[in-house]
Formats: sequence, C-alpha cells, structure tokens
Amino acid sequence: MMRKQIAAANWKMNLTLQQGEQLINDLLAKPHSLKENQQAIFAVPAPYLMMAQEKLGNKERVAVAAQNCYSKKSGAYTGEISVEMLQSIGVHYVVLGHSERREYFNESNPFLAEKIDICLANGVTPIFCCGEPLQIREAGKQNEFVGTQLNESLFHLSAADITKVVIAYEPIWAIGTGKTASSDQAQEMHAFIRAELAHQYGKETADQISILYGGSVKASNAVELFAQPDVDGGLVGGASLIADEFVAIINALK
Ligand code: PEP
Repeated sequence: MMRKQIAAANWKMNLTLQQGEQLINDLLAKPHSLKENQQAIFAVPAPYLMMAQEKLGNKERVAVAAQNCYSKKSGAYTGEISVEMLQSIGVHYVVLGHSERREYFNESNPFLAEKIDICLANGVTPIFCCGEPLQIREAGKQNEFVGTQLNESLFHLSAADITKVVIAYEPIWAIGTGKTASSDQAQEMHAFIRAELAHQYGKETADQISILYGGSVKASNAVELFAQPDVDGGLVGGASLIADEFVAIINALK
C-alpha cells in the first residue's frame, strides 16, 4: 500500500465564519489536482466545523479536522469537545498535541496518549504533532526528545492502530517564525521517526504511516520539502489562510 500524501491546513484561532467560508469558496474555485494517494485536510476552529463539513464533506480526497478534542467520552467537562460529538457531525480527523497546546495548555505526552486512545476507539484519525524546541535542537538532542514523545504517546498502540495515525513533525523553532527546517533537516528527522516506528512495529507497518512536516511551509518551499522520501506532505499554519498559497501547496504533493 502506498502511504497517503497529505496537505493539512491548520487555521488555528483565525478568521471569522464569513472569512472562513470565503477562503473555502476561493479554494474550491481554484484548479487543484488531488491524485488517488493524496488528500487535503482542513483543521478549522470548532464553531466552523459544520460549515466546513457542509462545503467539503462530499468532496473526494478532502476531509475536515478538529484542532483538538478531549480525552473523556462525555460528561461534566465544560467547554470541551468529545470524539463522539465530532463523529456525529461527520468529522473523522483531529489534530492532537500541537506545540501550542502543549505549551499554553500544558498537554503532556501521557495525556495525549489518552486522547489518541479515545480517537482510535471511535474511528477518528489523530494527526499527532511532535517536535522539539530550539534549545533542544541547539543541544543536538532532537532525536531523543521526539523519540520520547512517540514513546509516551503512541508506542502503546497495536500495529493495526498505529497505521491509523498521521504523524506531523513540527520543530517548534520553525512554527510561525518564517524559519523553515531545511529539506535535509526535515528528511533526517522523518527518517528517524520512521526508523523508530520500524523498530517498534516492523518496516512494513512503518512504511504505511504518513509523516507530515510542519513549520513555515509555503508555496515556495513545499516542492523541495515534499520531494524528500520520508516527507509525506505538510501541516500548514500561516500559508493555509491564503487560497493561492494553499492550493500551490496541495499541488506540490508527490
Ligand atoms: C502549524 O500551525 O502547524 C504550523 C506549522 O504553522 P506555520 O505554518 O504558520 O509555521
């Protein structure tokens, strides 16, 4: 099986409903080519999930994602969003463990493991984010750091379940900074992540898992990044808010 190549948009906490609708309309009006092994995913703010689902839900090779969900099934968790709620509106993807959530909302590796579990138990695909801060990169300890994130949040999964997870490597020093990892730095880390997966689950399983790069992906660097053998597309913040940019990023998938 050829693993999926994915362009995922992360709108974060941006745009009004009207601006979000306009952006989707603009995107749909532009020529784009999604081949059979390719997919575009839109992680929109929670209040816009149904709007996005209505506009994009019936499009082939296109999916809508939540930016977060909670680790519990239901109950007295005011303000949180359950996996069952996402399922009930037809949303089958969720971004988990984005560095902004880890940093500002104290999401830990074990807490994310719980979120991963409830998603997989309910047929929702997690887009699991990992990646090191600048001081770890400068100390040359990025593999150890990302290895621990994988270990503590994912490696309790069965081989069957790990193939249902999408991994996004996002070095924190490259997110929203305009500073992109070089294609060599991205490939090096993606190869490491795939080797860790192979070590844990075998090569055949590791080869099925999509590993996206995130961190200042733009139309101008997407082709080179996505051309790397272990880079299976991107998770895109800033550039996903500009229709021309994001369409070009979709068209850069291999
Ligand atoms: C992100 O939010 O996941 C991201 C990579 O942001 P940006 O593309 O703006 O760096």
